[in-house]
Amino acid sequence: MFVFFFFFYRIVIAATVDLVVVVAAENVVTIDTSRSVLQARRVVVALSPSLVLDIAFDPPLPVGRQCLGQHAVMGCAIKVFCVYRKAFWHEHRSGSKRPHLAPGVIPGPVLNIFEMEINQQPALLGLIVGDFAREMSQLPKETLACLVMHQYASLFDHVGQADAIPDHVVIRRWTQPTLTKPTDDFSHAPLASAFVTQFAKLPPPPNALSVTDIVVDALDSFYSRGCYANVFPPKVLTSVGSSLMQPVGRVHWAGTETSTEWNGHFEGGASAGKRAAIEVLHALDSSTAETMAGAAQARSKL
Ligand SMILES: Cc1cc2nc3c(=O)[nH]c(=O)nc-3n(C[C@H](O)[C@H](O)[C@H](O)COP(=O)(O)OP(=O)(O)OC[C@H]3O[C@@H](n4cnc5c(N)ncnc54)[C@H](O)[C@@H]3O)c2cc1C
Repeated sequence: MFVFFFFFYRIVIAATVDLVVVVAAENVVTIDTSRSVLQARRVVVALSPSLVLDIAFDPPLPVGRQCLGQHAVMGCAIKVFCVYRKAFWHEHRSGSKRPHLAPGVIPGPVLNIFEMEINQQPALLGLIVGDFAREMSQLPKETLACLVMHQYASLFDHVGQADAIPDHVVIRRWTQPTLTKPTDDFSHAPLASAFVTQFAKLPPPPNALSVTDIVVDALDSFYSRGCYANVFPPKVLTSVGSSLMQPVGRVHWAGTETSTEWNGHFEGGASAGKRAAIEVLHALDSSTAETMAGAAQARSKL
């Protein structure tokens, strides 16, 4: 969540926002965070609508905006990384460079595959999403790893081939969100996520398959509550969808869900941020001189 501090020109990071109070008479928004109480002239809330419900607003948000959050569902996903000694998929035995898929048949749980490198080894990253992800998250990590490696081997026509057996499989699940607020807040969050640290710790390639199942930590899980973004059931966007982007007084909305393009992706988050920033600048246009003077003052303190 970004807060524009036109009064103080400060940046506060790693703070949880709990309360946003709009004092209309004084043209001020007060933001209660886990670190301090802040004041601003405008606020941009860059959160999924369902996570906005964790923040109390005074006065309360309009019904349409609340309704969006109440009906939004956070997606769920599992990422499976298979790390190989060689990129066997470059040697498709049928001569084709594309995965071979019989029409209408998905030979495993992965729906998207990306090629990548992990610790200088070739790897395939597979995404398992939605109902598949919920179902697969019940499986033991070894079973899930075997399903995925078999899927890759069969997609590239390498079933039974030694080079299609990965040295490591790393699984990360965003399927069981933490619903209780962690006692730690952002200020205690480790700088490198457990995920990155785990990759750095991968042991040298063993002969037997090694499967690492990375549990999403409580902080990550509570503040994202799923993956990749909010989705809306039928009739929600057609009834209250206009509230997604509509500013509520001094409160503006960003976040990938408010984007008209690349919704649910980083690109959508970035373009929504730009749109909200422009909105705020327009809103403050009448007091541009004040803003510029404040900015100059802030720069002089750097
Ligand atoms: C596992 C995973 C994999 C993904 N992979 C891809 C990918 O490969 N490509 C792609 O384009 N997109 C991917 N996405 C989607 C992408 O991450 C999002 O679309 C993008 O991050 C959305 O940006 P945003 O600014 O809307 O929100 P976010 O990036 O979610 O930012 C919201 C921030 O608000 C914080 N927050 C939550 N509650 C509070 C609170 N009360 N107070 C203060 N702060 C709070 C959160 O911790 C978070 O940092 C992935 C998402 C996930 C979860």
